[in-house]
Amino acid sequence: MFKFLALFLFSSSIFAVSYEGDSGGIFALPVSSEYISNDYLLFEIDGKSYVIAGMPYVLEEKVIKIDDKEIKVLPVNYGESRITIENDSLVNPSSSDQERAAKERKLLQSALTKKSNFILSDLRFLRPVEGAVTSGFGKKRFINDLPRAPHLALDLDGFDGDPIVAPLDAEVVLVDNFFYSGNIIVLDHGSNIFTSYSHMSKSHRAVGDFVKKGDLIGEIGSTGRVTGPHLHWVIYMNGNRINPEIVLNKDFPMNLLADYQDVPANLPQSEE
Ligand SMILES: [Zn+2]
Repeated sequence: MFKFLALFLFSSSIFAVSYEGDSGGIFALPVSSEYISNDYLLFEIDGKSYVIAGMPYVLEEKVIKIDDKEIKVLPVNYGESRITIENDSLVNPSSSDQERAAKERKLLQSALTKKSNFILSDLRFLRPVEGAVTSGFGKKRFINDLPRAPHLALDLDGFDGDPIVAPLDAEVVLVDNFFYSGNIIVLDHGSNIFTSYSHMSKSHRAVGDFVKKGDLIGEIGSTGRVTGPHLHWVIYMNGNRINPEIVLNKDFPMNLLADYQDVPANLPQSEE
C-alpha cells in the first residue's frame, strides 16, 4: 500500500490534484491569484481566484490543462435523437450549397475569435425564449437514419414570431442568413463567452449593436435546416460548446463552487 502511494507521488507532481469535469459541462477551477488569461472567465471570491471553463465535448476521456492544473474530461451519455427531413437538398446539399456552408462556417469562426473588451459583470443567464426544451444538448443525431454531428445546442420550442431575448449584456458580432442555421445572430458577452441563435424568422439587431440582458434580439422561425419553428441556442465558452441547461439552473454559477468552500452568494452582479 505504502509502495503504491510512493510511486504515485513520484509519478505525478506532489502537489497535483486531479480534477474531473463532464463532456460539454462547465468547470470552476481554483487558480493562483497571479493567473491571467483572455481565454477564460476569471473571478475572485474571498481572496480566492477561479476560472469558469467550458469543457470540450468528448466521446473518450481527455485531459486538458488550465493554469498548472489538469482536468480529466469524462464522456457523458446524452442520448440520441432521430429526425426525418424530406427536402433532400437540405439533407444532401449540392456542392454549391456545401461550398456556401463552408464559407459560413469560416464567417462564424472569425466572429467567435473576435475578443471584445466587454467586461461581463453578471453571469445569471436569462432564458432566451419561454418554450420548453425539445432537443437536449449532446445527443447523437441521425437524420433519415444516417449518423450526423452531435447536437451541441439546446432546442427551445416556440411559434413563428415569438420573441428571443439576450440572456446577458452583449455586443452583436454576426447577423446573417446561413444555409443550415437560417437567420442567425451571434452575441459576444465578453470573457470569451458567445451565444448564437439560429432559424429566426427575423433579426432585430445589426453587427456592432450593444444589447442589454432581456433586450429583444430576434423572433423564432423555421429558416435553414429545420423541421419546424424553434430556437437552436448555442453557448460557446472558451471555444467549447457547452450544455446551455447548466446556465439555466437558478443557482448557476454558485453551484459550481460548492465543492471548494463556503462560498458567499455575492458574485459580482449588475443591478437589474
Ligand atoms: Zn438544434
